[in-house]
Amino acid sequence: MITNEVSEVSEIISKQRVFFQNGRTKDVSFRLEQLKILKQAIIDHEQPILEALKADLHKPGFEAYATEIGVVGEIDYAIKHLKKWSQPQKAVVPWKFFSYSAKIYPEPLGVVLIIGPWNYPFQLIISPLVGAIAAGNCTIVKPSEIAPHTSSLVSEIIGKYFPPEYIAVLEGGVETSQKLLAEKFDHIFFTGGTAIGKIIMAAAAKHLTPVTLELGGKSPCIIDSEINLEHTVKRIVWGKFLNAGQTCIAPDYLLVNQKIKPDLLDGIKKCLTEFYGDNPATSPDYARIINQKQFERLANLIKDGEIIVGGETNAEERYIAPTLLDHVSLTDPVMQEEIFGPILPILEYTEITEAIALINSQPKPLALYLFTQNKNLQKQVLQQTSSGGVCLNDTIMQVGISSLPFGGVGDSGIGSYHGKASFDTFSHYKSVLKNSFWLDLDWRYAPYKNKLSALKRLLG
Ligand code: NAD
Repeated sequence: MITNEVSEVSEIISKQRVFFQNGRTKDVSFRLEQLKILKQAIIDHEQPILEALKADLHKPGFEAYATEIGVVGEIDYAIKHLKKWSQPQKAVVPWKFFSYSAKIYPEPLGVVLIIGPWNYPFQLIISPLVGAIAAGNCTIVKPSEIAPHTSSLVSEIIGKYFPPEYIAVLEGGVETSQKLLAEKFDHIFFTGGTAIGKIIMAAAAKHLTPVTLELGGKSPCIIDSEINLEHTVKRIVWGKFLNAGQTCIAPDYLLVNQKIKPDLLDGIKKCLTEFYGDNPATSPDYARIINQKQFERLANLIKDGEIIVGGETNAEERYIAPTLLDHVSLTDPVMQEEIFGPILPILEYTEITEAIALINSQPKPLALYLFTQNKNLQKQVLQQTSSGGVCLNDTIMQVGISSLPFGGVGDSGIGSYHGKASFDTFSHYKSVLKNSFWLDLDWRYAPYKNKLSALKRLLG
């Protein structure tokens, strides 16, 4: 059984290598056609996609549409710009090298591997796949086994629209990942937790395979007193409790200016009722925790600090109410790991320097949020902190702008994608220098006698 699976993996890879070598994917019109097929495949399967996400995460239809099926926006963007991206770019050559011309050619890497997580199990497979197709690669995709309905639907859709020697889906868990990682790829694109990211990079290092690691971490959200309170509250509650907090760039914890804290907490409480009613368990717009293991992990985190809103849980339904925690300490488990659920700890500061120092004492986050109208404060926080990305006066929306590369820094990841960055991630930029035959100055050839002063003039 195991032998069969191992050979299945290497067989698919060899078939993809042959397909890649035949050169079809280098043709930009082929890539455009494949992107259009992918878009159509998603449109044709809108309903099954919504149902699979409902089955895996109880994902509300609206959220599923906005955050998963919405990936067609990335396809449209790639279709619109692909011809331009794939053209060779002229490079400047200094006048001294007048007989030369230089160009940079983007070329596909070859056979690439995409490994996805469970929280946006459709979008986080398709979005990197758009980059891999646009750049002209063959791809093997491994969706997350933790979202089994979506994983099998991804496999069904891709299998129906693309031949496996071009794009193949291999379903399975850690064992399947490990078998894939034992093989040589031309690039590995991984989305998941920081701990597994290290395993992926170590496996890739054995083959010198380059990696993109889209990881997680604790994304802070700073709230100053110079804000529009109503807008701030809505944008935080939406970004935190979307997909029941299981979003890599969800605000992990709040750092609130103590002057505004009572009003902010009051506002968040009211907003939660406005969004999800008095009992969020009965709201059609509130998702569930992916599995029992994650449910138990989150239920334990609620034991830290003081619950000021929420705290209700239902193990059978894997329901955890939107929960606000006050009076947590940095040594509490809830502040020691990425929360990745509907629990929002609130920390306060008096001076912004305290908030900045706290952020800088932690691993670099994937996202940083700052709510303030104060331009000097915006500048100070941008200058004095490092994070994958920043969103001022909003949450999550940065992920939806295709012209903004999306990725982490330090512990939150390596590399980026979306829009042109996806094309770049899956391309090699090949530098090509061309000389002509009409002239051949002998300043560089031996014998070097009497040529040093001419060389110094040339370099000077
Ligand atoms: P995970 O790291 O547990 O799993 C991700 C993938 O790795 C899955 O396909 C899984 O099968 C595979 N995997 C698990 N263990 C493995 C091992 N030992 N060897 C090889 N492969 C293995 O992540 P997850 O729980 O699915 O997702 C949650 C994490 O992903 C969070 O930390 C979150 O922040 C992060 N995330 C990041 C982004 C981003 O864009 N940066 C997006 C979504 C989620």
